[in-house]
Amino acid sequence: MSSYFEVSEYQSRLDRATDRCRDAEIDALLVTPGPDLRYLVGYHAHAMERLTCLIVSANGPHRLILPTLERETALASPISELDIELITWEETEDPFRLTASVLLNAKQVAVEDRMWAVKAFHLRTNMPNAEQIPAGPVLAELRMVKSAAEIVELQAAGAAIDRVHAMVPDFLQVGRTEREVATLIAEAIAIEHEQADFVIVAAGPNSASPHHLPSDRVITHGDVVVVDIGGTTQTGYCSDSTRTYSMGEPSANFANDYAELLDAQQRATASVKPGVTCESIDAVARTALTGADLGDLFVHRIGHGIGLETHEEPYMVAGNTRPLEPGHAFSIEPGFYRAGSAGARIEDIVVCGPDGPILCNDRPRELLVVDTGDNT
Ligand code: ZN
Ligand code: ZN
Ligand code: ZN
Repeated sequence: MSSYFEVSEYQSRLDRATDRCRDAEIDALLVTPGPDLRYLVGYHAHAMERLTCLIVSANGPHRLILPTLERETALASPISELDIELITWEETEDPFRLTASVLLNAKQVAVEDRMWAVKAFHLRTNMPNAEQIPAGPVLAELRMVKSAAEIVELQAAGAAIDRVHAMVPDFLQVGRTEREVATLIAEAIAIEHEQADFVIVAAGPNSASPHHLPSDRVITHGDVVVVDIGGTTQTGYCSDSTRTYSMGEPSANFANDYAELLDAQQRATASVKPGVTCESIDAVARTALTGADLGDLFVHRIGHGIGLETHEEPYMVAGNTRPLEPGHAFSIEPGFYRAGSAGARIEDIVVCGPDGPILCNDRPRELLVVDTGDNT
């Protein structure tokens, strides 16, 4: 399996980024290693103290400033087939002066959101006449609408995390700690993807903390366990899926609340189609949960965009009036959290298709009862 898309995919991303720069009177985008660089040219470079910087120029050639020792790695990526001039610098040279020297007349440069502050400051010192603005808004507009090839990758990531969730009932054993279970899950994620990004195993009262970190709590019969996990595949696309497990049969009250949560999650998913707003997806689930007296316990937005980052635009939250477009990819993850008692969350990744939702996850969404061998 290749880690890259066709070169034409990157070429079209670069062309659209260039168009957006011209529209916004931005002379150049300055992109250091991170998801934006990977998105634009497929180069998965490690962020470090030495400057590597892609200069996407509105009116001139695109250039990549990079240390000489990184040249071969860069050329192993699609950069070698794109129209990008490589400018290397030696260990004793000043790469910031070098960057400034090819942007002499720039009035406005857009700096990638994740550029290290110290690099942005060095660039500012070397280019005193160029106003720096964040590149995030320019690139987010491109990145949030996934191409057909990207949707395939998100579905592959979803299938990978589904395979991990299928193993979770075996990992969840009474007497194991959250941390022990998390270690087993992380290994499985790394095998099914390329790397594990995060593992939440929240058992018993810890399930009422949405971002609980795995602890030494021992899992016991009767615990609810929220398992929220994600990884990154070889192509850089992320998975993120939550299922809620019950160690033995749940209480009737919890089972009732969970049924309301499942209903809310299904309603929100079914409401996905082009033209409805991001905030309306959140509102559908919130209205359903409020009707079941669980609205106050749903303490976070319903979801976030996903792609080369686990959390990216569009955010599915009250106040985001952006209409959904085909290709928007995001999580739908309502939950309820009863402090001191238990919580639950159900999370799938969904792509807005031309007529409705395209699901990237396929595991059962019902409360998953793990047999503990204890019927008391
Ligand atoms: Zn989260
Ligand atoms: Zn999650
Ligand atoms: Zn999520």
